[in-house]
Amino acid sequence: MATRLILLGTAGGPTPRSPRHAPSQVVVVDDQAYVIDCGNGVAQQLQLAGVSPSLLHGVFVTHHHSDHNADLGNLFLLSWPLLTRPVPVLGPPPLSAILRSFFEMSRYDIEIRVEDEGRPHLSEFVVGREIAQPGVVFRDDKIEVRAALVEHPPVQPAFAFRIDTADRSVVISGDTRPCNALVELARGADVLVHEVIHLPAIGGLAEGNNGTRLFEHLRACHTPVDQVGALAERAGVGTLVLSHFVPASGVVPDEVWQAEAARGYSGRVVVGRDLLEL
Ligand SMILES: [Zn+2]
Ligand SMILES: [Zn+2]
Repeated sequence: MATRLILLGTAGGPTPRSPRHAPSQVVVVDDQAYVIDCGNGVAQQLQLAGVSPSLLHGVFVTHHHSDHNADLGNLFLLSWPLLTRPVPVLGPPPLSAILRSFFEMSRYDIEIRVEDEGRPHLSEFVVGREIAQPGVVFRDDKIEVRAALVEHPPVQPAFAFRIDTADRSVVISGDTRPCNALVELARGADVLVHEVIHLPAIGGLAEGNNGTRLFEHLRACHTPVDQVGALAERAGVGTLVLSHFVPASGVVPDEVWQAEAARGYSGRVVVGRDLLEL
């Protein structure tokens, strides 16, 4: 069966929004599923995508901003009765401490359910492994995963992942400003899922209690949509999929995202949306 890629959440940033959920995607190869990033709602989105957590064979976290990891522990806690095997969970430090803290935070519920419902302990299904270096970080009978260090200051390290299967190559940018390491990682890939920001539209985000600082953060460590096409062209990818939209509210129409991303790019541009399968 062909490798499937499903976008589970396509919003940038942790604040819940409609209609886009926080960032996450799943790659399914035959009966094995691999989740990349675990924004809020990932367990529910996986359900809506029709992918059972019983198929989980790996979870990969690009970096530890909360839009990418808020539901990492919850993916397992909420899917617990459906889990059938230990699942490798890979991400940058402090992944181990995050998982430890999650199990401690959830100890009351976990112990009650182990005792009352006879479940195996949740920790038996989660095998955390920190990624310290770029390169090949995971390999099984279906996929190979290669990580590249991307530029998302001040988060360090932050990774992008390339997933190669028998029939397809998919790259997930994570969060990054325009970055040569990502272009190298994505070279010749079939699909590049890349984060995008629309700078002229985020003036309106300068609201709340941290507007100015937030704007500076967004400008310094994300990729303007009018630059992403040139990156995809340099990498020679077949399809560029836009995701992690900032702003995610819908104030920027799909046609604008599409047209800006197509600048300097000769391949196909897809404006991502939740639950879109590619
Ligand atoms: Zn993000
Ligand atoms: Zn981030």
